[in-house]
Amino acid sequence: MQGELAAQTEWDYAPAPESREIVSIAPEYGLFIDGEFVPAADGRQFATLNPATEEPLAQVADAGEADVDRAVAAARTAYERVWGPMPGAERAKYLYRIARLLQERSREFAVLESLDNGKPIKESRDVDIPLAAAHFFYHAGWADKLEHAGFGPSPRPLGVAGQVIPWNFPLLMAAWKLAPALAAGNTCVLKPAETTPLTALLLAEVCQQAGLPPGVLNVTTGAGSAGAALVSHPGVDKIAFTGSTEVGKEIQRAVAGTGKRLTLELGGKAANIVFDDAPVEGAVEGIVNGIFFNQGHVCCAGSRLLVQESVADAVLGRLRDRLGTLRLGDPLDKNTDIGAINSRQQLDKIRELSDAGEAEGAERWSPPCQLPDRGYWFPPTLFTGVSQSHRIAQEEIFGPVLSVLTFRTPDEAVAKANNTPYGLSAGVWTEKGSRILWMAQRLRAGVVWANTYNRFDPTSPFGGYRESGFGREGGRHGLAAYLNA
Ligand code: NDP
Repeated sequence: MQGELAAQTEWDYAPAPESREIVSIAPEYGLFIDGEFVPAADGRQFATLNPATEEPLAQVADAGEADVDRAVAAARTAYERVWGPMPGAERAKYLYRIARLLQERSREFAVLESLDNGKPIKESRDVDIPLAAAHFFYHAGWADKLEHAGFGPSPRPLGVAGQVIPWNFPLLMAAWKLAPALAAGNTCVLKPAETTPLTALLLAEVCQQAGLPPGVLNVTTGAGSAGAALVSHPGVDKIAFTGSTEVGKEIQRAVAGTGKRLTLELGGKAANIVFDDAPVEGAVEGIVNGIFFNQGHVCCAGSRLLVQESVADAVLGRLRDRLGTLRLGDPLDKNTDIGAINSRQQLDKIRELSDAGEAEGAERWSPPCQLPDRGYWFPPTLFTGVSQSHRIAQEEIFGPVLSVLTFRTPDEAVAKANNTPYGLSAGVWTEKGSRILWMAQRLRAGVVWANTYNRFDPTSPFGGYRESGFGREGGRHGLAAYLNA
């Protein structure tokens, strides 16, 4: 009888949706130029969608060259008259205010980010928004201490910074770019990604609320052409870009010979390396966090699992069990682990590369998983039998797809991990401290995590080598990119 009852009782989660009520989305949004929201000069707009439902959220102004020109002019005036000459301690007050307002309005930001991007609310609520506030707090602390930061006695700001950011962490990437630039005394023109403009515009509203002087921050929403116009504008002194390696190369070509300073944070194909002495449960959690966090839309995602051959079956068995427990669905549900893919274009790219993986002979596996009927979705996916030459071992998929390779010796692990044109991040799972240090010295990656993965902190510099770009963001190193020292 008891057995019968147990068989009948299916334990499942009740829906736990976060309310949308806290956010009021306007039907239309303007560009933020010189402290005001204004339409594009030619009146053009584009729609931003909720990728989980394909429902249009709002119409957003599409910046053209004339708008970028106005934004750069406003930033220049604000730099020369207000923000550049302002003492660091005064600039700090604005940054602290912005940080506090981000905290106060964090629920609103989290819901809006999940609606526009598709990421699970538990990630926008617990990672994106708190970290964005932390970046403003941290850099506010530097604003009046720049002369003690080791860049000489009187480091100067560069002037106007043009900043182009991607769609995977819309608010957080804005904070990574804006907080150090503003702390150092630069003014900014920010170009958010076309598919995720809404939280950058809400941040502009927060800056208004904080009384930030007009022109210090300008937001020119629009397509790639708005980014290109900003990059090539002669009135910009520094370009900071996060996005694909392909566009990063275009930007580097456009900037070459102009005297503009440039930092590029590009793609990655990180190895997450599990040795036979690693605690399996911890490593499995780290693998899951490494590739399924934010649907794998993470430049430093641990998208290649390198597992020592002697423990491969055990680790993969546990990993498959764990993937079976991941919950995919409504991004606003607090129990959701995997949300929507950000756009149709990105979904097509993930499908194309996954199909290529199968066609090249790797074995594909996903847990049983029902995808919603509307919106852009892709199940968590594992590929085994992957060889180093496969496209899924070489190219950035930027989705919830893990390619598994094996190794026998630490030397082989290093050789395989470094066999990529990228060099952004890596993970090492082992009980031996000496092995962690040995690996960290040999892995060609800007960040190496040991027995953890995807840990971010504003005090810690982040950035890559080779096709992953150059320059660092965060920490004292990140400030250097915005100073004439
Ligand atoms: P892009 O590199 O195209 O976009 C990043 C930002 O640059 C966006 O704001 C984009 O605008 C803008 N942009 C596009 N073209 C230009 C240009 N010529 N000059 C200046 N700015 C430009 O990335 P996608 O969004 O197209 O994604 C493509 C692939 O890039 C992904 O599949 C992924 O592999 C990788 N990627 C990597 C990221 C990372 O952090 N490493 C982040 C995002 C993507 P718009 O949004 O209008 O295109």
